[in-house]
Amino acid sequence: MEIRSLQTPGSLNSLKQESVRMKAASFQGGLALPVPDKFESQAITTLPAPDRVLLPLLHHPEQAYELQVKKGALIKQGQPVGEGVSSLVLAPISGKVEEINKNFKLPGGALTTAIRIAASDEEFPDEAPPAVPDSGTLQKILGTGLSELSESPVPLFEKLRSIRSKRVRTLIINCLDEFFIQGRSAALASQHTPDLLAGIDLLVQYSGAESAVITVYAESAQALQSLQESGTKCHILPVKAKHPQHAEKLLVTAVTGREYDVDLTPEDLGVSVISAETAYWVSRAVNRREAALDKLLTVAGGSLKEPRNCFVRIGTPLQEVLTHLGQDIADGDKVILGGPLSGQAVSDPDTPVTQQTHLVFIQKKTDLHVFSQDAVCFKCGLCVQICPMRLMPFLISGFSEGGLYDLAEKNSLFTCIECGCCAYVCPVNIPMVQWIQLGKSAIRAQRS
Ligand code: SF4
Ligand code: SF4
Repeated sequence: MEIRSLQTPGSLNSLKQESVRMKAASFQGGLALPVPDKFESQAITTLPAPDRVLLPLLHHPEQAYELQVKKGALIKQGQPVGEGVSSLVLAPISGKVEEINKNFKLPGGALTTAIRIAASDEEFPDEAPPAVPDSGTLQKILGTGLSELSESPVPLFEKLRSIRSKRVRTLIINCLDEFFIQGRSAALASQHTPDLLAGIDLLVQYSGAESAVITVYAESAQALQSLQESGTKCHILPVKAKHPQHAEKLLVTAVTGREYDVDLTPEDLGVSVISAETAYWVSRAVNRREAALDKLLTVAGGSLKEPRNCFVRIGTPLQEVLTHLGQDIADGDKVILGGPLSGQAVSDPDTPVTQQTHLVFIQKKTDLHVFSQDAVCFKCGLCVQICPMRLMPFLISGFSEGGLYDLAEKNSLFTCIECGCCAYVCPVNIPMVQWIQLGKSAIRAQRS
């Protein structure tokens, strides 16, 4: 499939025409949620490293890591503690391996091994090798342990190989967050513009692509201004703020103007989506030999007047992040990883920040949306109309609820991107996303 004029740097006029078309087009379905006035005004802060970190050795259902350390070992910051085929888990702090838990439960329910490291003043016996080797760029990227920091992370090394082998011509840099209140990626684009653009240049160079398109919400005025004033050769494409525009498939459809089958990947269309945060870390790894030990996340909701964007050391317990930001959790409040429409509530305050933590949302007891476990679907069809993936949400949710997982799968259970639009509009408050997540987990558990 061809992408229209976006493949080669166009004139300002053609870019403006693209922007106008995007604002009109977007995608079918989805929610036009209110966009806040103060979209990205908060400066990104860096939280202090904690005394203890917890590192699960599983970043994705198909991406487990082999344990590389033993209990009691002294390890240096940046040293690999878990190793996958083409990715690493690095120690975010120096210290002693205090505990290895072989049955750590992730918020989604999957079990994995987790390493707890406690900061230590003890002398380190040997100089550990530097986190990012002083060799070729791809080796440096491998040395960062970096995954593509999207909803479905894959090792970046693998992603670049796939982009090269499929002769992808255009990289789509995703500067859109799941929820507009975040402004996390837009803040990165406006406050760390040189690092972001340097990372995009490196990704274009090492993926063999010809160009890059940076997609930004049209309402992100500061990000758009910073990018435009930088003189970058990348296309800057403002897009309409509509949930879930950030999702890979919908973003590719919006940029290329084409819908495509679920069994195709963006790479089959000659494009590939990479998050803005990934590009930022690539620049730091290659140009400064700094490993990605922090995660950029947003904390929003609760008593916070405005969302806070901060770099947090990977492995930091959520409770420590919330305490640092002065955020108390009262009885009955919910801490949700991900947004209020589709995130997962966590009950354990020790749950650590990982490469997949993009948003921590505190839902006050008084704001809780109550779903009904006993509600019966009366086939109004609203969920079908709103579903951006053109699914039959009531059907797959109903099959999952009834334990008929094979039927749910036959009706494209795994095509669901868990955006939450269907549950948001359901007049009888059926918790469709929870049923869908349950169905997916049950099938994955049967297969593993
Ligand atoms: S079925 Fe999935 S993709 Fe469709 S609206 Fe519901 S959560 Fe979103
Ligand atoms: S919106 Fe709710 S009631 Fe209407 S069809 Fe969907 S599940 Fe049924």
